[in-house]
Amino acid sequence: MANTVKAVILRGRKTVETVVEEGRKKVENVVEGGLDTVETVVEAGLSTVETVVVEGRKKVETAVHQGRMTVENVLLRGRSTMEAAVLHGREDIRIERVPVPQAGPGELIVSVGAALTCGTDLKVFRRGYHARMIVPPALFGHELAGTVVEAGEGVTNFASGDRVVALNSAPCGECYFCTRGQENLCDDLLFNNGAYAEFIRIPARIVAKNTLHVQDHVPLEHAALTEPLACAVHGFQDSHPRPGDTVAVIGGGPLGLMILHVAALAGYKVIAIVKHDGQVEAARQLGAAQVVQTSNIRTAIRETRALTEKNRGVDIAIEAVGVPESWEEAVEMVRKGGTVNFFGGCAVGTHVTLDTNRIHYSDITLRATFHHTPAMCREALDLIASGRFQAGAFITGHARLYELNRVFEKLMKRGSEIKTAIVP
Ligand SMILES: [Zn+2]
Ligand SMILES: [Zn+2]
Repeated sequence: MANTVKAVILRGRKTVETVVEEGRKKVENVVEGGLDTVETVVEAGLSTVETVVVEGRKKVETAVHQGRMTVENVLLRGRSTMEAAVLHGREDIRIERVPVPQAGPGELIVSVGAALTCGTDLKVFRRGYHARMIVPPALFGHELAGTVVEAGEGVTNFASGDRVVALNSAPCGECYFCTRGQENLCDDLLFNNGAYAEFIRIPARIVAKNTLHVQDHVPLEHAALTEPLACAVHGFQDSHPRPGDTVAVIGGGPLGLMILHVAALAGYKVIAIVKHDGQVEAARQLGAAQVVQTSNIRTAIRETRALTEKNRGVDIAIEAVGVPESWEEAVEMVRKGGTVNFFGGCAVGTHVTLDTNRIHYSDITLRATFHHTPAMCREALDLIASGRFQAGAFITGHARLYELNRVFEKLMKRGSEIKTAIVP
């Protein structure tokens, strides 16, 4: 009897154990399956949320972008006039209300983000005209970068909202000089002025040949340096430097400083010859190995030669002042077989006297680089965008359009100002 009961109990316990065990397994399966389902749901949910967020952000960005375009276009269309600097003659700039330009076929209207003052503008301000570039009364200023607000019929490379730098000129591409890669000497170089204004019209040829997109990380006022920097890069490369050369740069104006900076960045030893205190500091900051400060030509030649081995003279001298005395000085500074680049343009009708014996028996190469080519413009903007070029060092002040006269008067006094960014 007792055995039978024990057997029953034992069997019953086994059954219970089996039931419990199977029950636990089922529960585990259910829980596991549930967890998987929850994970799948959560994961799918997260992906959906991410997609929604990303798409939402894109929609917002597009809306903002289009909204800005629309606002700009409305602003532009809604206005028939704008403020612009008009050159009337010697030291006579007036800020006037003039019609807002409209884009013809192939043209762009650019809202000026920054227009930079330039030595050429200063010359024009003093003389009242520029034979090749500007005849008053005329819109004034030529170094600019900004945002496209209108693209004319047939423009495919640029659209409203694009950040651009539009150069001051463009070659024809067809003449004798253009077809030989000397576009800077184009028989029909087209110049554009009118950067000191709220908006500027960019002619079709400049749109096609010399308007460049500006990357988002490059400030517009830095991009506006493309034009003078293109001249500087051109002048330096045209002097055909060889590794190890010592380069003297005469002149501490914006272009002198740019050339010396370009040469220093390329690894050359640079001697800067400057006049004013502020220029000494700037020349050092931009990479001059040595600075000669003097307003006396004889001293400048002697001191520069003294900085070279056995008073031999420099390998290359680049004149970036634009006065005949300084051209003559440049010739006296180079070594036998050296190169002189008369980079600074002098006033019409001026002449220089050169020692023919020295030129011949010392085998001196004379060059005179003018202006820039489309290839140089691209190199210049690349250099600015690379971050190696200290663009910020060249912009020493900011002013509004109505302050332009005061800015030029200040530049004429030749302080430590390099360039002022005019922000309309
Ligand atoms: Zn310029
Ligand atoms: Zn041409």
